[in-house]
Amino acid sequence: MNFAPTPAQQALQARIAALAPLLADEQLQARDQAAQFSRSLWQRLCDAGLHLLPVPVEQGGAGLGALDLALCLESLGEHCQDTGLVFALAAHLCACIHPLVFFASPAQQQEWLPRIRKQGLLGAHAITEPQAGSDIAAMRTRAERHNDGYLISGHKCYISNAPACDFIVLHARTGDTGSFLDYSSFVLDRHTPGVSISTRPHDKVGLRSTEMGDILFDKAWVHESQRIGGEGGGGPIFQASMGWERCCLFAMYLGTMKRQLARCCAHLETRQQFGRPLIEQQALAHRLAEMQLRYESARLVCLQAAWSLDQPERRGDATLAAKLAVSDAALRNSLDALHLHGALGVLSGEVERDLRNVLPASLFSGSTEVLKNQLAQQLRSEFKRKPRGRS
Ligand SMILES: Cc1cc2nc3c(=O)[nH]c(=O)nc-3n(C[C@H](O)[C@H](O)[C@H](O)COP(=O)(O)OP(=O)(O)OC[C@H]3O[C@@H](n4cnc5c(N)ncnc54)[C@H](O)[C@@H]3O)c2cc1C
Repeated sequence: MNFAPTPAQQALQARIAALAPLLADEQLQARDQAAQFSRSLWQRLCDAGLHLLPVPVEQGGAGLGALDLALCLESLGEHCQDTGLVFALAAHLCACIHPLVFFASPAQQQEWLPRIRKQGLLGAHAITEPQAGSDIAAMRTRAERHNDGYLISGHKCYISNAPACDFIVLHARTGDTGSFLDYSSFVLDRHTPGVSISTRPHDKVGLRSTEMGDILFDKAWVHESQRIGGEGGGGPIFQASMGWERCCLFAMYLGTMKRQLARCCAHLETRQQFGRPLIEQQALAHRLAEMQLRYESARLVCLQAAWSLDQPERRGDATLAAKLAVSDAALRNSLDALHLHGALGVLSGEVERDLRNVLPASLFSGSTEVLKNQLAQQLRSEFKRKPRGRS
């Protein structure tokens, strides 16, 4: 097995690292406090073509697969302190651009991809509802057949990018069989009559520079050409987006961990107590070593899962473990980083902000408990399928 990045992947990482000065923002602390997304920084990401990374080259993108995208988002997480901005981009790429690239018809791609490219459009992905969080089958938002389209009514909540978005990838109920075939996916403009979005972003603990809001649908009519895939085909589209989120989006936290490690090393080398640098206290050096071990282990699981998404013949779902490993490692490392910085760590700034940004990671893209249930289920089916050997 060779895990060394290819020359093309190294070039991509260097391209992202070179963007760092453009993304540095002295207003970040103020924007974080005010829960404000920066449209001008978003435009810089678009100018660099990052908003279309998985789109094929001939359609104006970079044609990245899951592993390439994970490496890019890891680099961006390392070089851009505005984790909320990176999260906004990653959610747009994994849950809005991904369905357009892998499931939309050529006509839908022709309608949306050039507009997204030229106008720097931002997407929001709407599935969660007040009574349907982890239990997606409780979804009530309904798309009723009406003439040559659908009338959509319902309430979506906790939607990342919603207040600032230009288009929405929506999952709604089109059947009541109690199966995976009850949902369909749609792509629509945010200004579609009957669609209203909360303009004031929710005030949340972390990822504050990604604006989160609710979307209400009141008999919003969409033409059937806005349905992605067949009627009842929304389940696999949603699952595929979640797979990309669980390793590509979560790779941004690998970048956070790498940045934290560098910062902690520098702090422990320079901060002197009891007449010597803190790094010479074995208890602290061990804590640093544990942070490194967690980062390296989570990185391997995450990149291996991203690699597996690019393989045509894949079995099982390695992305469950990736998300569990990264969210857990990032939380523990952020707590350690805060502790190693002493009182400096709890003052407003990078160290405490990184901790707040990782807190919601155990919930979105499948919560820790729900993913552990799925992983255990996967293990049970593997175990039942395999003939039992003697040893
Ligand atoms: C920062 C952030 C961004 C988000 N962005 C989006 C977005 O862009 N689009 C979107 O559609 N949604 C988004 N969400 C919503 C997210 O998908 C939901 O938060 C998630 O599905 C969990 O649902 P819930 O919050 O209603 O929690 P609940 O489902 O009510 O769960 C509450 C707790 O119970 C646990 N739990 C639930 N069921 C079980 C079970 N069977 N066994 C054991 N424990 C269980 C959960 O793990 C959790 O700890 C976002 C959430 C956050 C925090």
